[in-house]
Amino acid sequence: MKQYLPVKSNVTEYIYDIHALFGAFYPGYLIKVITPETKVTDREVQAVIAQEGYAFTLEILQNEIILTAGAQSYRCAIAPEHQGTSYLIKQEVKKFLYQSLSKHCDLQLPWGNLTGIRPTKIALTMLEEGRDDAQIKDFLQSEHFVSDAKAQLSIDIAKREQGLIRTLSGTRGYSIYIGIAFCPTTCLYCSFPSNPVFGFRERMDAYVAAIEKEIDYVAAQFAGRVLDTVYIGGGTPTTLSAQQLQRLIDKLYATLDMSTVKEFTVEAGRADSITEDKLRVLHEAKVTRISINPQTMNERTLQLIGRRHSVQQVIDAFHQAREIGFTNINMDIILGLPGESEREVETTIREIEKLSPDSLTVHSLAIKKASKMQKWIEENGITTLQNTDGCMAIAAEGAARMGLLPYYLYRQKHMSGNFENTGYAKEGCFGLYNILIMEEVQSIVALGAGSISKHVYPDGRIERCENAKDVDRYLSGIDEMIERKKNLYADIIDLH
Ligand code: SF4
Repeated sequence: MKQYLPVKSNVTEYIYDIHALFGAFYPGYLIKVITPETKVTDREVQAVIAQEGYAFTLEILQNEIILTAGAQSYRCAIAPEHQGTSYLIKQEVKKFLYQSLSKHCDLQLPWGNLTGIRPTKIALTMLEEGRDDAQIKDFLQSEHFVSDAKAQLSIDIAKREQGLIRTLSGTRGYSIYIGIAFCPTTCLYCSFPSNPVFGFRERMDAYVAAIEKEIDYVAAQFAGRVLDTVYIGGGTPTTLSAQQLQRLIDKLYATLDMSTVKEFTVEAGRADSITEDKLRVLHEAKVTRISINPQTMNERTLQLIGRRHSVQQVIDAFHQAREIGFTNINMDIILGLPGESEREVETTIREIEKLSPDSLTVHSLAIKKASKMQKWIEENGITTLQNTDGCMAIAAEGAARMGLLPYYLYRQKHMSGNFENTGYAKEGCFGLYNILIMEEVQSIVALGAGSISKHVYPDGRIERCENAKDVDRYLSGIDEMIERKKNLYADIIDLH
């Protein structure tokens, strides 16, 4: 049964921020912000409003903001110097809403009123302006109500990011992402371009051939540019056979100057797709970093989320990768999975600790509309999906015991507990590509179905273009995909 939280606002302009803040305080509710421009067509929402009225009414007036919830009302004056300036009013609305909802719900949020995906951006910008830790912390706390721990985390991560970005070539360089849009099965929470491999086996050679065509385009367009990182993700790249992986990697080496590559990552991802011959292909190809992602080390949860591999398979794949010689292995886990609480997270961390990976990426479950999770919640309720401060602390403490330092962080919409995703790694094993994705300091050319290419201009402007998500449309429209990229990168010239 869906639970709606209808909010009436007299202005449309700040709808995204209003929606995000109510969502942060009321996880599990479907937030409906109704403005004078909204046409309510959903009958369920119409019925809720007719029977119960609005849960909240927000009025943004010339010199005052008022929030009403039943008999309770909160108000604040808009500073005279902010009146009439949209950006400044938006900041006032966000501060006021956070403070009012915090009082109303008797709840402080770890990230305060920051609702964007990059909470470290403020710290990084302020560091670049020459501000010190105390100034950054003060700003994050007084303006955005960020907790002391999260403010410090932002500063620590921003400093690491700043150092790592300097090792890359900026807009004179570029990176490549290759998406392999197949997986052994589809996970309950998945919203990525992914197709169950059993239905696509006979099209996988054609898929590799299409990517080869895209690689030829990249070689021509980016001749003379420095290739900084290569990332093969998905989906699950190791759903390709060892021969297909070899063919793809041979093409990269034959066509591009790989001598400048500082990081070559392949997401081995699912343990049920990893074999010794595939790992050997990757190791011989000088892949520097792989991921073996359990998400949880609890057998019951693995089955519940549709992974269809066992904890033992993860352990075996990890040991096999170590024996073959991989010295930078990442593991991804998710907190807030169905039925998991602190006890299960503790088990996961303890099991991972025995393996001692070189990096650990801790995700907070994000409930995406495109995933099967929505339906699951309607049937089972949201209360079984709980990420908590305690779970986050168990993961952070485990990472610290393993000698891993936080080096990147991002948030997504609809995250369990309104927390964040954090990448931890040993010194020297930080994932450069992850930082590039977050900080957008260089173009990433993306190949494969559903991938999104990004053109970062020297002035910081960013433009994007997408490949078709559907595998058949990608295969039949490969020339069109390449044309899209030619348009996107039309100004890239040979720097030789
Ligand atoms: S392994 Fe990743 S990409 Fe594949 S189905 Fe699961 S969540 Fe989706």
